[in-house]
Amino acid sequence: MLPLTDQTLRASFINASRREVNDLSLPADFDAIDWAAIEFLGWRDPKFERRAYVVIPLLDGGHAGIVLRHPGSTPRVRAQCSWCQDVTLPNDVILYTAKRAGKAGRNGDTVGVLVCEDFQCSRNARRPPRAFYEGFDAEAARQEQVDSLQLRVMAFAAEV
Ligand SMILES: [Zn+2]
Repeated sequence: MLPLTDQTLRASFINASRREVNDLSLPADFDAIDWAAIEFLGWRDPKFERRAYVVIPLLDGGHAGIVLRHPGSTPRVRAQCSWCQDVTLPNDVILYTAKRAGKAGRNGDTVGVLVCEDFQCSRNARRPPRAFYEGFDAEAARQEQVDSLQLRVMAFAAEV
């Protein structure tokens, strides 16, 4: 994705109150992010245990920032992340919920999504897939994983 500044990041939120945007903490490594290596930016807020954020690039060149709510517990059964769909389950997957943008969200309407707890999806999607047969093009398959991840996060932004 294209790099964001503190300002463009905060301006991108579609389902947050002004107060939530003002008191959010940027990712700890914000100045060192390798933007070319991620399809979206996701992080948890160290100040608010139950709060996390994702900023998702949109087709029109803009971004959608979304506040997510962490359920406060980790499920006992490992689910599959609906974004990276990584099958090796290297990390916990959490049911995050997002208030819908606008009036629907103010009326309490939410969208749930099962996602890697610390948003490791971009890293997971970049791992070379296992070769299933001779001549398997692992690089092409890896690119497909990355492209699919991009489409899935964009679809989530549209849903919110
Ligand atoms: Zn994931």
